[in-house]
Amino acid sequence: MLDIKTIAEIAERDRSSVLHPFTHLKDFATGKAGDPTIVTGGKGINIKDAQGRTYIDAFAGLYCVNIGYGRTEVAEAIARQAYSLAYYHTYAAHTTEQLATLSDRLVRMAPGKASKVFFGLSGSDANETQAKLVWYYNNLRGQPKKKKIISRERGYHGCSVVSGSMTGMSFYHDHMDLPFPGILHTGAPHHYWHAHPGETEADFSRRRAAELEDLILREGPETIGAFIAEPVLGTGGITPPPEGYWREIQAVLRRYDVLLIADEVICGFGRTGADFGCSLYEIEPDLVTVAKGLTSGYMPLSGAIVSEKVYKVMEEASDRVGAFSHGYTYSGHPIAAAAANAVLDIVEKERLRDRAKTVGEHFQKRLKERFAQLEIVGEVRGVGLLGAVEYVADRQTKRRFDPDLKVGARISKAARDRGLIARAMPHGDILGFAPPLVVSEAEIDEIVDLAYQATKQVMDELAKE
Ligand code: PMP
Repeated sequence: MLDIKTIAEIAERDRSSVLHPFTHLKDFATGKAGDPTIVTGGKGINIKDAQGRTYIDAFAGLYCVNIGYGRTEVAEAIARQAYSLAYYHTYAAHTTEQLATLSDRLVRMAPGKASKVFFGLSGSDANETQAKLVWYYNNLRGQPKKKKIISRERGYHGCSVVSGSMTGMSFYHDHMDLPFPGILHTGAPHHYWHAHPGETEADFSRRRAAELEDLILREGPETIGAFIAEPVLGTGGITPPPEGYWREIQAVLRRYDVLLIADEVICGFGRTGADFGCSLYEIEPDLVTVAKGLTSGYMPLSGAIVSEKVYKVMEEASDRVGAFSHGYTYSGHPIAAAAANAVLDIVEKERLRDRAKTVGEHFQKRLKERFAQLEIVGEVRGVGLLGAVEYVADRQTKRRFDPDLKVGARISKAARDRGLIARAMPHGDILGFAPPLVVSEAEIDEIVDLAYQATKQVMDELAKE
């Protein structure tokens, strides 16, 4: 716990100098939004702030701290690497033992027929790389028009220029001159909101696939390079795919020779109870994006994993086009690679994928038991250790709450006041959960109870308003 004077000084230094993501600038600058939360420590599924308050972090930071906080094995691996070699680049075939080990490991474990990994620092830059790989691949194989990339409404793929354009949420585009040309969007895979009356999940999936096919035909299949999607829609509302969705979608992509980029940034490394979302839904990707769980957030690291099919074209063309001209100063950073190896050791040793499956089943069951009958709950959904409760004003008509009521944000705040971090997601009133994979069943019960109390509090408030 820090003393009051130190806390005030840190807050003031922060307020006067940090440009915070997803923060109302004026409310923060004037103090109307309160002081910054100064996070000082973490252990297991808990974080602590400067006032000494402890919170259960049921969102694992931003769905990334899968192994939990305070794992000294990872800290030691980072320190060992920093002492022996803090940095060297990977340009012109330089490497380190940690990087070579990690890359080999990823190629072996990745879904699809993986061949190589290009390393970056964030999910956004990895998806930026994926777009360039799609363009490069199609240029090299003599298909220079096949460049457009289709993503989904409510998909999240990052916030850089191309990845932000792929993200299917308008507030990532507004006032920032996105989307970038050549990035198209197709409908979200959300049965609850988008199914026609009486439409089954399987029928809805077929309709989504038919819409994708229509879009490809309208644009001309010779202009469509790739389709990018998260196996489970994440920031767009934590929504598992409807029945049959991936089978139908992949059939369309194959028909028109369209590459599939699986964005496994959230789903990868056990979060859904399977190694990857692709394994769970029988997805055969051509390119795979990984980040977050790869290092559990202990260091920034991402990977764009390239299949044999794409890589072969790149290698064969190299006599003609010269070196592969893409790379960052920090591609394959040795400290990040050391952190990733230590994290993946823990994921394997502690069988966190299996844990996410069994504890995840308990979590889904508890969420449904506690929330499904509440009169302001429209849908409870999730898979593994990803879950969401969606609130509506009227269950029958699915009428949403007036956005000015800020129901989701208020429930999230009421949870926080009880020491629980669960995220108010965009697109309506949604409380999202993605706890560290080391969470126990007893801790799940506590998380669900606290979220339930928070929901009840806001329901009572709404009844009085
Ligand atoms: N893809 C997905 C599926 C994500 O959830 C995220 C981050 N939430 C990203 C990409 C972007 O990752 P980053 O924030 O590391 O750039």
